[in-house]
Order: sequence, then structure tokens, then C-alpha cells
Amino acid sequence: MTRIAIVGGGISGLSAAYAVEQKSRAGFDVDYVLYEASPQLGGVLRTEIVDGCVVEAGPDSFVTEKPWAADLCRELGIGDQLLGSNDAERKTYILTRGRLVEMPDGLMFLVPTKILPTGFSSLFSWKTKLRMARELFHPPHAVDHDESVAAFVERHYGAEMVDRLADPLLSGVYGGEAANLSVRAVLPRFAEMERKYGSLGRAMLAARENGRKQGGERTAAPLFTSLNNGMQYLAETIVARLTPSSLLTNAAVQAILPESGGWVVSAGMQSDHFDAVIIALPARAAAEVLRMASPDLTAELAGIDYSSSITVGLGYGADVRRSLPPGFGFLVPRSEGKRLLAATFVHNKFPHRAPEDRALLRCFFAGGNAEKVWELSDSQIVGIVRAELEQVLGLQAEPLFSRVYRWKSAMAQYGVGHLDRLQRIEGLRLQLPGLALAGNGYRGIGVPDCVRSGRDAVQQLVQ
Ligand SMILES: Cc1cc2nc3c(=O)[nH]c(=O)nc-3n(C[C@H](O)[C@H](O)[C@H](O)COP(=O)(O)OP(=O)(O)OC[C@H]3O[C@@H](n4cnc5c(N)ncnc54)[C@H](O)[C@@H]3O)c2cc1C
Repeated sequence: MTRIAIVGGGISGLSAAYAVEQKSRAGFDVDYVLYEASPQLGGVLRTEIVDGCVVEAGPDSFVTEKPWAADLCRELGIGDQLLGSNDAERKTYILTRGRLVEMPDGLMFLVPTKILPTGFSSLFSWKTKLRMARELFHPPHAVDHDESVAAFVERHYGAEMVDRLADPLLSGVYGGEAANLSVRAVLPRFAEMERKYGSLGRAMLAARENGRKQGGERTAAPLFTSLNNGMQYLAETIVARLTPSSLLTNAAVQAILPESGGWVVSAGMQSDHFDAVIIALPARAAAEVLRMASPDLTAELAGIDYSSSITVGLGYGADVRRSLPPGFGFLVPRSEGKRLLAATFVHNKFPHRAPEDRALLRCFFAGGNAEKVWELSDSQIVGIVRAELEQVLGLQAEPLFSRVYRWKSAMAQYGVGHLDRLQRIEGLRLQLPGLALAGNGYRGIGVPDCVRSGRDAVQQLVQ
């Protein structure tokens, strides 16, 4: 019997536990114990139902393009819970000199592919629009080193594009700044496009043309997918399929140490022996538990930065719902001087998540902006959100309810050189047989990537 310890009960650890159960059912002689420090499994996947609204404390959905989370839902028998975003209403605004300006049609992430909507948009100055036109002639470019997303985007479209689009879009995903994130780790497809085509605009147009040739006029899948009952339901469903006696909550692991060809895991006063360990923790926490086993690996893991974030859910009545603009919500460039980074109009993005007579807003602070308000009380944070929503949307109404959720160092920041660091981590990990790493610190921060990382960790250990 191979005994595996899984450390961390977020979606990465739960996916690993589920994969071990599947292996066991397939005839492998394998067993596991999952250690979770908090009283609850699921990590940052947390949903509250308030006044009929589905309020997501952590992730509210995942990108449909990455299949692993949706595939897992189908495997778990909850495929009927999958819910696409209401893309007919998809419109995102960028706060520009205090006004909400719609992102122009044809913008693929940050690459303009339609001339007229971009040409007429007040989001960009004429100087940037000229840069966009010139970008189409950018020659193929093999860069032999990693660089920040900001440097990469600036080379193609100029600094305004970094401020108005790249930075706000990435803040919403990583809670970090384009100036600190690695283009190779965060936008690998763009780095590859540059290598091959030079111009990102030409590369996007070629990709679209190829898609058309291969797939004809297929209906596009929704951009985001979530679950009817909320993201926590995914974690709960996995837990319901696991062996209850294998799940230890309130069990913070302090250290793992190699011993006699296996591993000893220490949690509180208890130590237990295993053949293998999957560390499914944020990289910083993984560094901590590995301190005695491998100082070198600890140093590399501790070098992966994390940022903190705060989400605020606000519920309003029918009048507010009628008065809000259409669309999914807005992003705030740092240059606008606000503390909010983004707000989602949940009732438009996932309409059934709020009754018809309710408006549901999800507001987001991250990085330095979250740190600035971290020590304030919930009501003070709600006060800041309300003041900024009044400035941006003219929204003065008193919310029917509010919820504030704080996530300390939960979002990994893939800094410049991240892929080289991953190679070094992999080399050091291989020196410790029976150790696997999963989680959002390595090859993708989103829920689907974390699901895949848990499953792959099991695959590395149980062949
Ligand atoms: C506010 C927010 C919004 C997000 N929005 C989205 C989104 O919309 N879409 C998307 O795809 N992704 C989103 N993400 C990212 C994604 O949700 C996370 O990257 C992912 O859920 C992380 O899962 P995990 O299991 O790796 O880590 P976590 O969920 O952080 O779980 C780690 C677990 O380990 C436990 N733990 C820590 N130390 C120990 C220890 N020593 N011993 C035992 N247990 C320990 C913790 O208590 C925790 O339960 C968001 C993240 C946040 C914070």
C-alpha cells in the first residue's frame, strides 16, 4: 500500500485527493490523508447565499478555455451545474479620467483586431492609436530573456496601453502589477506570437482566420464558466466523494521530513509516516513546511511572491439595478487614483445569481491597494467602496447588505524569471523522491490550473 499525505485542502489539494481515490478505484494499492489547517475544506472557494444572492467570497468563475475544472465537474456528476457567463451582455468599462469608457469591440485581451471600434474609442489617445496601426508592421522578434508584461506591452503599443488595459486586466487576475509580472509566465501565448509574427495584431488576425477555416462559424463558448450554486459547491462535491476518515481539518502541518525512504509529516503533536507527500499550499507556505527538508527548495519557493486581496459583496434593490449601466462591470487603472481595482455587476454577468429585484456588485482590492485598507474595519472598507462607487457610478443608495472577505497572500505573482525559477524548483524536487507540488504558485493561478496541478501531482507519484 502506498500512503500519500496531501497537505492543503484548497481546490488543488482536494483535486489531488479525488485523483488518489480514482486511482484506488482503478485498482492501485494507494491511500491518503489530507491535512487542512483551517476548520473548512475548499480554501478560497467560498460562497454565501445572502438575501437570495449568490455571493462569492473568492473566485466567482473560471475561464472556459481551460477545461480542467469543468471536466472535473462533469466527472463528479455536477455538469448540469455549469453555468456560462451571459456574454450577450458582455461589456467592460475602463475608468478613464473619471468616466466609464467601454472597451472597444474586437479587443482580444489587449490586442485590437477591429479598426473602426478602436479608432473611434475615447479609451486611447491618437498617439496610441497610431502606435496600434504601426504595430501591425512589428517584425518577428526573438527575445532571449524574460521581461515584464509592462515592458512587453509598451514595446508594442506604448505606455498608455499598459496603464489603461494591461495593468487593470492583470490586476483583476493576479492582483499584481504589469510591471512586476513575467510575460513568459503570464502571457506565454503573446510571447510566442511575437516570436513568430512580430506583430500581435497580425498574429491575432491569423489565428482568427485559421479558426474560421478549421471550425467554420461555430458558436463561441462563453468566456467564463461558474456553478449555479456557487464555486464552493465544487469543493463540497469533491469532499462528498472522499473518504471522511482521510480528511483532517484543524490540522496545520508544521514540517515534513524525509525519513527511511519515505516522509514524516508533523501536525500539532502528531507525526505520521508516508511513502509520498503532495504539498498543495501557496508556495510561501510550502517553503515553510519544507524548511528542514531542503533549505535550497525553501529559498526558491519563498521567492515566489504573493499578493493579498479583499472582495466586497454589495446587494441593492430593483431601483439600483435599473440605474446601473449594462455590462459585466468596470476596471480602474491605477493612474485614476482610486483604491478599488474593479467592480463586477454580478446580476448581469451571471443573471440568476441575484433575484430580478436585486443588484449584486462584487468589488475588488488587491496588492498595495488591499494592504492600504487591510487594517480597517469591515464597515470602514464598505464606506470606501461606497464613496468610490458614488464617484464612478453616481450610486448613493444604502446597500441592503454588504460582505467583506480578506484573503491574505493568496494570489501568486509570477515575477520576471518565474519559468527559470520553476526549472530550479523542479531540479531540487527531483532530489527528494516521493515529493510533489501542486497549487497556484507554479503554472497557473486560476481554478482550472489548480485542478490540473492536483491531478498531475498524483500522476507523478502513482504510475
Ligand atoms: C479573491 C480571489 C479571487 C479569485 N478569483 C478567481 C477567479 O475568478 N477565477 C479563477 O480561476 N481563479 C480565481 N482566483 C484564484 C484561485 O481561486 C486560486 O488560485 C485557487 O483557488 C487556489 O487554490 P489552492 O488550493 O492552490 O490554494 P488555497 O485555496 O489557498 O488553499 C490552500 C489551503 O491550504 C491550507 N493551509 C495553509 N497552510 C497549511 C498548513 N501548514 N497545513 C495544512 N494546511 C494549510 C489553507 O488553509 C488553505 O485551505 C481567485 C483568488 C482569490 C484569492
